[in-house]
Amino acid sequence: MAICDTCGNDHDKAFQVTKAGKTMTFDSFECVIAAMAPSCAHCGCRVIGHGVEAGGAIYCCAHCAGQENVAGLKDRT
Ligand SMILES: [Zn+2]
Ligand SMILES: [Zn+2]
Repeated sequence: MAICDTCGNDHDKAFQVTKAGKTMTFDSFECVIAAMAPSCAHCGCRVIGHGVEAGGAIYCCAHCAGQENVAGLKDRT
């Protein structure tokens, strides 16, 4: 028995996930995503796949990375 770190559910099939040296306990992959998946810096959706890294930020797709870079250039001028 283990308590899910996201929702607090006491689940007999709970499992642990280690990311960057930090281990957390979860009862479902939904809770893993809620706790660990990064959010796209442009649209805010959860990045479940590999994502796209640009300028130190992570995006869900190349389209979002491009949109954000265009906006960033506009902001600086
Ligand atoms: Zn949970
Ligand atoms: Zn996005």
